[in-house]
Amino acid sequence: MKMQSKMRAAMMYGPSDIRVEMIDRPAVPEGGFVLKVHSIGLCGSDIRNMTTDSRKGDYPFVYGHEIVGTVNEVSPACTQYKVGDRLYIYPADHCMKCEMCRTGHSEMCENVGDYTNRQGGFADYYAVSAEQVARDSIYRVPENVTLDRASLAEPLSSVYACQENIGVGFGDTLVIIGAGPIGCFHSKLAKLRGAKKVIMIEINDSRLEMAKQFGVDYTINSMKEDPIEAVRRLTDGKGADKVISANPSTQAQQQAIFMAKKTGIVVFFGGVAKGALTELDTNYIHYNGLWIYGHFGANSMQVQKAFELAISDEFEADKFMTHVLPLSQINEGIQLTRTGEAIKVVLHPNEDEDIDR
Ligand SMILES: [Zn+2]
Ligand SMILES: [Zn+2]
Repeated sequence: MKMQSKMRAAMMYGPSDIRVEMIDRPAVPEGGFVLKVHSIGLCGSDIRNMTTDSRKGDYPFVYGHEIVGTVNEVSPACTQYKVGDRLYIYPADHCMKCEMCRTGHSEMCENVGDYTNRQGGFADYYAVSAEQVARDSIYRVPENVTLDRASLAEPLSSVYACQENIGVGFGDTLVIIGAGPIGCFHSKLAKLRGAKKVIMIEINDSRLEMAKQFGVDYTINSMKEDPIEAVRRLTDGKGADKVISANPSTQAQQQAIFMAKKTGIVVFFGGVAKGALTELDTNYIHYNGLWIYGHFGANSMQVQKAFELAISDEFEADKFMTHVLPLSQINEGIQLTRTGEAIKVVLHPNEDEDIDR
């Protein structure tokens, strides 16, 4: 009888209780394959899920969804992939059959792959189901592209989708509130799309300092100065064309309204704490003809475009990945992200192996 082989995984036992332990390796799903995880990003949402009671007591659980690796074992029924293929798995696979998918909004797919409920990639191995294969949420990483770089495609997808949807483009003045990895992606992408001026607002000085390398023209620490006044001053009193709130603060959402120019666009990109309400001056929105836009996710075409962006030379992936750590140091990675010392932390499972990543 074949012994069930083991693997290392970062198991969540409760809020902020993450232990790297040996668990059973996933079996090969019928029609799917097992991926050996080489590179996986630590996402803000992973950190939120792993530091709160995200599963209402249902532990242990393995999170991790910015997954890149190589095919390790394939079900005979899966003919599309072979051992050794280098792949990036987009975790929120779309069905392409429901009404939202068929109307071009697969980001709101009614049968979306629920990656917060299947065993994730903070482990040496990750099982890819026949359904994921059928939905084709799998991208081949070209030979000349590092696996670490490809791991940025997932967090980039919603950023790419947002800027495409609101048409960030030539000559725009853009305000970004929140200089975390997502804010930094927004700045870099805005400049690639031709934005003229990027103003970054943040409460953490070290994050502001790091953000400067991604095309940020002006930085404002909103703990030290009034960010609305500062944006007005930097825009000849007019306000910005577009304001993106990429942080979990309701106060930032409130302030964002007053940073936009007349007829400007305000995006609520970052989610706030569940149940938290933001008080908005709707008369101001009304009389200034503002567009308020909630953003979430990316449709299938945008997921594809974001992957192309992540693996392109214009996108300076290495600058974003400030910390690359073995999976066993996931708790350090969480700390580094929370304090603002790191921009993007990328983890390496299979840490004892010398693999090209
Ligand atoms: Zn769908
Ligand atoms: Zn993510």
